[in-house]
Amino acid sequence: MFMKSCAVCNSSNLNSNVIDKVFNYEGFEAVVHGYQIVECMDCGEQFTDPASDKMAEPIIRDLHRRAENLLTSDQIKLIRQAYGFTQENLSSLLGGGLKAMARYENGSVMQSRSMNNLLRIIWDHPEVISSLYQYHEHAFSPATTLPLATVPYQLKVTGYSLKEPAPVYHAGNYANDFQEVG
Ligand SMILES: [Zn+2]
Repeated sequence: MFMKSCAVCNSSNLNSNVIDKVFNYEGFEAVVHGYQIVECMDCGEQFTDPASDKMAEPIIRDLHRRAENLLTSDQIKLIRQAYGFTQENLSSLLGGGLKAMARYENGSVMQSRSMNNLLRIIWDHPEVISSLYQYHEHAFSPATTLPLATVPYQLKVTGYSLKEPAPVYHAGNYANDFQEVG
């Protein structure tokens, strides 16, 4: 248990529980399974486990993304992987710092709307990648050379399209942001 006595009444008569915690935002809902809470059996106060709060952070970030019509972390990852980019490759190409994609994908940072637009544009129009590369070639170090020779304007993964986010999703299986076409 993450606490020994109640922070409100100091009682040590505590009960630990695992719940499905529901988060709501602008009509969208996320259910986080395995949320640890502690309930005080004397005063009834409930406390959430800081580790569970930490676990929920990227899920809540995705909840906000959905509500604000931004790409989710899984969608960003799929766009990147579809072109065969490493996180650093794509971060170099689009800007925002070498760790940008890693942070968007692990949910520690929410992408700006302009970055979101860029990601949508490279998804819808693969040909813009070559012009981006052309303009920014000088900025690439040997370690972040883009795999354009092997992937010329072509999606490596085909048969997928971005799906509209569902109004309700569950942590753990909320990655169904893509559906197969045909
Ligand atoms: Zn208490």
